[in-house]
Amino acid sequence: QTDSAPSRRDRATEATDATRHGAPVRTHNLVKTFDAAAGNVVPAVDHVDLDLPAGSAVALTGPSGSGKSTLLHLIGAIEKADGGTITVGETEVTALPGGKLAAYRRTVGFVFQRYHLLPALTALDNVLTPVLPLKVDFDKQARARDLLAMVGLAGREHDVPSHLSGGQQQRVAIARALIHDPAVILADEPTGNLDTRTGEEIVDLLLALRAERGTTLLLATHDLTLAARCDTVVRLRDGQVIEVQQVAGDRSTAETLESIERLG
Ligand code: ADP
Ligand code: MG
Repeated sequence: QTDSAPSRRDRATEATDATRHGAPVRTHNLVKTFDAAAGNVVPAVDHVDLDLPAGSAVALTGPSGSGKSTLLHLIGAIEKADGGTITVGETEVTALPGGKLAAYRRTVGFVFQRYHLLPALTALDNVLTPVLPLKVDFDKQARARDLLAMVGLAGREHDVPSHLSGGQQQRVAIARALIHDPAVILADEPTGNLDTRTGEEIVDLLLALRAERGTTLLLATHDLTLAARCDTVVRLRDGQVIEVQQVAGDRSTAETLESIERLG
C-alpha cells in the first residue's frame, strides 16, 4: 500500500461521512405490554423515559425479563409500542406510517446474541443481505469487503459461517449491521454466546466503531463488566428504569480498530 492509497478502513469510513454523526435517542412514557398466560398482562416496558445524546455508548442492564430486548425492538421499530413516543434524530418513530418503517429501519443496525447469519451464504454475502434483493452493485460489494476488513476479517470473505468461530461470526454480523451507515447500533446481548475474552473484543469493536463513526450505541447486556465499558449504564427492572449512571467511559481508540483489523 502506498502513502496515497487510503486504507480499507479509511474508505469504509469515508463512505459514511454524510452520516458520520449518530442520532440522539429519546423515549417518553414508552409502554409495551404482552398478554401472558391466564389473561395476565405483562408490562415489558413500563413508562420508560430516556434521553440519550448522539454518539453515546449506553449499556442496558438488568436481569432476564427486565425489558432490555423489548426496548431495543421498540427503538428499532421491529415491535410497535402501545403508548408513549420514541424519537431518533429528527424522526418520531412512534408516529411513522407503515410505509415509512422500512426506510427508518435502514438507519438502525441490529446485532443479535445468536448472530442470525444465513448458513449457506459466505461472510461477504451475509454482509450484503440487508441490501438484497436490490441489485448489488460493485460499490456495495467493495463496501462490504471494506467493512469485513474493518472488523478484522480480511481474507475471510468467502468463508461460510460454519467455518468461522463464534467471535468471527459476530464480527460478520457487526459488518452487516453497518452496511447502511446506521445512525444507531442496537446490540442485544451480542456477547451472550461468547467466552469472556472474545466478548470483550466484540464490545471493544462496537465501542471503537462508535468512537470512529459517531454512531449511537445501545448495548443490552447483563454483564456489568462489559456494561462499565460504556459511558452510560441504564438499569432496568420489570420494564422500568431504576437507575441511569454515568461511568468512566470507554477506552476505545483508533488503535483498537487497528488491532482488530490485524486479528484476521
Ligand atoms: P430481557 O431482554 O431483559 O430479558 P425481554 O424484553 O425479553 O427482557 O422481556 C420483558 C418481559 O416481556 C418478560 O416478562 C417477557 O416474558 C415478556 N415478553 C417479551 N417478549 C414477549 C412476547 N413476544 N410475548 C409475550 N411476552 C413477552
Ligand atoms: Mg433479552
